[in-house]
Amino acid sequence: MMRFDELLGQDRVVNALRRSIAAHRVAHAYLFEGIPGCGRRTTALALIASLFCHQPVTGEACGSCPSCKKLAAGNHPDLHLLQPLPDKRDISIEQVRELQQMLSLRPFEAKRKACLIDPAEQMSIGAANSLLKTLEEPPGDSLLILLTSQADLLLPTVRSRCQHLRFAPLGIDDLTTLLIRQGMTLDNATMLAPLADGSLEVARNLEGEDASASRQVLLDALRQVRHQQVATVFDTSERLAGGRNETLELFAQLISLLRDMLLLRTAASDRIANVSLLGRLHEEADRFLPSRLMESLELAIETRRAIQGNVNPKLALDRYLLRYSRLRIT
Ligand SMILES: [Zn+2]
Repeated sequence: MMRFDELLGQDRVVNALRRSIAAHRVAHAYLFEGIPGCGRRTTALALIASLFCHQPVTGEACGSCPSCKKLAAGNHPDLHLLQPLPDKRDISIEQVRELQQMLSLRPFEAKRKACLIDPAEQMSIGAANSLLKTLEEPPGDSLLILLTSQADLLLPTVRSRCQHLRFAPLGIDDLTTLLIRQGMTLDNATMLAPLADGSLEVARNLEGEDASASRQVLLDALRQVRHQQVATVFDTSERLAGGRNETLELFAQLISLLRDMLLLRTAASDRIANVSLLGRLHEEADRFLPSRLMESLELAIETRRAIQGNVNPKLALDRYLLRYSRLRIT
């Protein structure tokens, strides 16, 4: 998604940028300020796409030329990303020098080079100072876009050299629409959007926590089926059942839970994955000998593999829960 007309919730900023493009007055350096997950990077990419595109239509990238395709695939040779190296907190002065070196070369395909600095507040003082001249007079007409969640953390000399655009947190309706567009279910999007403080990123993290809620449901189901009648076991299975992909996901969660239970029984509790379920995991794990848990884990792995093959997911789940319900305690 790299077109202005696909962006939601940032009309003021987007309109200002489109006017600049139409008037051929795009700035050399922008500072995009807003919370993470409100659309700063997507907007920056839409701007860069419109400048790089071989056949833009009224200031909008076409989406289908070689340049647009490379940008979408994240491998356009004229776009540079400046961010902290994986094991570092700050963007270093050496990284800024390398960037300056690259910007001084002729662009490969576009008319100008572009650079995203994210998060800009993580430039070291030295890095920020050495960037000043580039911000003032970017070589070869290149475009620099700095992203930040807090502009006051930047040197005033950096701020003053950029055109400062402020992004608002996303409204609930826009956030819901964007989450659904990115593949979240309608139910989850409607439930999580109001809790996400206007950020796609927060909403997606909340969905991750939601996964812990579904593991809890699964763990409760395991407890419920123990030593129950076949009919009760099948009822539980019916309640958990979904399509093939959902069942595969369910078994992935199950395997993670069983592995944790086994770790708890073998005194390696510091390595468990589902920390938020520790108490319940203990309770369930303590009922079985480690060898039974091992048996149950192996069966879950086997069943998952069978579903990946072509076994009916519902029948496989029935069978698994039945076996679990009959699992001997000792
Ligand atoms: Zn294009």
